[in-house]
Amino acid sequence: MTVSLLGEIVWAVGTVAWFVIRYPYARRARRAATVRVDGLSRERILLGVATVGLFVVPVVYLATGWPRALNYDLNYAAVAIGVLVYVASLWLFRRSHKDLGRQWSASLEIREKHQIVRAGVYRLIRHPMYASFWLWALAQAFLLPNAVAALSGLVAVAILFFARIGFEERMLTEAFGEDYRVYMRETKRIIPGIY
Ligand code: SAH
Repeated sequence: MTVSLLGEIVWAVGTVAWFVIRYPYARRARRAATVRVDGLSRERILLGVATVGLFVVPVVYLATGWPRALNYDLNYAAVAIGVLVYVASLWLFRRSHKDLGRQWSASLEIREKHQIVRAGVYRLIRHPMYASFWLWALAQAFLLPNAVAALSGLVAVAILFFARIGFEERMLTEAFGEDYRVYMRETKRIIPGIY
């Protein structure tokens, strides 16, 4: 087996794990009562962009080899870093779903009896799930031996994150007032102590 094939297999296994972790939360969210939905069409576009960059482009590359001119070979160091980053991403993804519990939604929503979560990984940063998306995209960059497939995830997460984050924090500030403002003063967004 070539090192590049190994990287591709790791990427595929991690992506299946991602869907397995999310599935029960997505299922439960379909039944949850919601009191506010923010920017629905904007959020649909952003989720579409994320799906294209993190999933569709890599799958097209894996299935067809396109765009072949931008292929390169991986080495073991890149795959090893990719594996470590991927494991960290999936761990954080699972933990943030568990900690956020019934307040989770794929787009921006306030649930009935929504409560601010500040426990678990939310004690360290305000957006651990988005931090896990950044790590996922970074792992993809190390694991896929093609410039387009490697970088499409980072571009997609950057768009999702920067286009959504201000709206999300504004929505939570409007819903929870001083409680969320205090939480914002006490924590950073995705990198503890830094940003
Ligand atoms: N931005 C968070 C959550 C992503 S899920 C993260 O990256 O971990 C998106 C939903 O989570 C939004 O609809 C919002 O209502 C909810 N949310 C975000 N932060 C929250 C918090 N600290 N407590 C409760 N709900 C939160």
